[in-house]
Amino acid sequence: RFQAVLISRDEDKNQSVDMVELTEDDLMEGDVTVAVEATTVNYKDGLAITGKAPVVRRFPLVPGIDFAGTVTRTSHAGWKEGDRVILNGWGVGETHYGAYAARARVNGDWLVPLPEGMSARDAMAVGTAGYTAMLCVMALERHGITSARGPVVVTGAAGGVGSVAVALLAGLGHHVIASTGRPAEADYLKGLGAAEIIARDELSGPAKPLGKERWAGGVDAVGSHTLANVLSMTSYGGAVAACGLAQGMDLPASVAPFILRGVSLLGVDSVMAPKELRLEAWRRIATELDHAKLAALSTLVPFGDVISAAADIVEGRIRGRVVVEMP
Ligand code: NAP
Repeated sequence: RFQAVLISRDEDKNQSVDMVELTEDDLMEGDVTVAVEATTVNYKDGLAITGKAPVVRRFPLVPGIDFAGTVTRTSHAGWKEGDRVILNGWGVGETHYGAYAARARVNGDWLVPLPEGMSARDAMAVGTAGYTAMLCVMALERHGITSARGPVVVTGAAGGVGSVAVALLAGLGHHVIASTGRPAEADYLKGLGAAEIIARDELSGPAKPLGKERWAGGVDAVGSHTLANVLSMTSYGGAVAACGLAQGMDLPASVAPFILRGVSLLGVDSVMAPKELRLEAWRRIATELDHAKLAALSTLVPFGDVISAAADIVEGRIRGRVVVEMP
């Protein structure tokens, strides 16, 4: 028997979240069983556990959208017992039993190898948020946004996606402008490599169709007015990678940046991203993300605190990344 977090619903669709005990027989179908060694709390896990958005689409469900661990049982040709693996997305923690249990049983096609030299904890200090930040960096690169093009902006900078994006972009030599609603985190963000800090308020109100050109591109984890402002201030031919909705799912923008400045909006999804892209992202994270910065941006919490950390993340109270150590 092992401990797990379980989200249930009663007949009136009231959601409850409990620490329960499960056995491997309770797990869902899959051809690989993994001993989960570390997991994490992403914004989406916060939405799932608090019920603030309809992330969970089957009840009961073990939440947790990502984990790192060791294969204990497999009938999948690509994996053998003892392989060290990472899982991000694919509906795990949404429609398939997820990471908040000592064991997970999943489709082996969903797994990627834990990169050489990375521990399970390191991988979860990165987690889905950090892997998505890398997908955003790769999208900007495909669009030709090099450090020579000018500054880049990162919104929601003190959050998970934001912190990793700041560290990665600064590591690649970009002049990073970090936007945060938490001025007290300015030193933290400078430690990750931010060159300038701007207040979240500068970007969170209604956007003009076009603003002063301030950056060549950016990584946006916030959506809504913030993304509209980021687009309106992107310089000619620039690009913005959009991956989040911390301010809102809406996009109250105009077409002006697209049709008058040739700005591109690059959508980034981590959940169904193809395997080649995942392998490339994790390979680059392992080699390009500074170890000291990864340690600086992550906090370790015990498994028993996962429910309260989920509530904290949707309230914007988590700095950087949270790593959950399994009992
Ligand atoms: P997080 O750690 O909570 O970071 C979000 C950050 O956004 C907060 O730390 C805060 O940064 C800022 N923020 C929060 N509320 C805001 C508001 N009302 N207005 C403006 N800024 C606000 O969450 P995360 O795990 O990094 O995820 C960030 C976003 O990316 C989420 O929306 C998540 O769903 C999304 N995401 C998408 C994918 C994908 O596949 N597309 C993958 C991972 C994450 P400051 O305190 O610095 O202002």
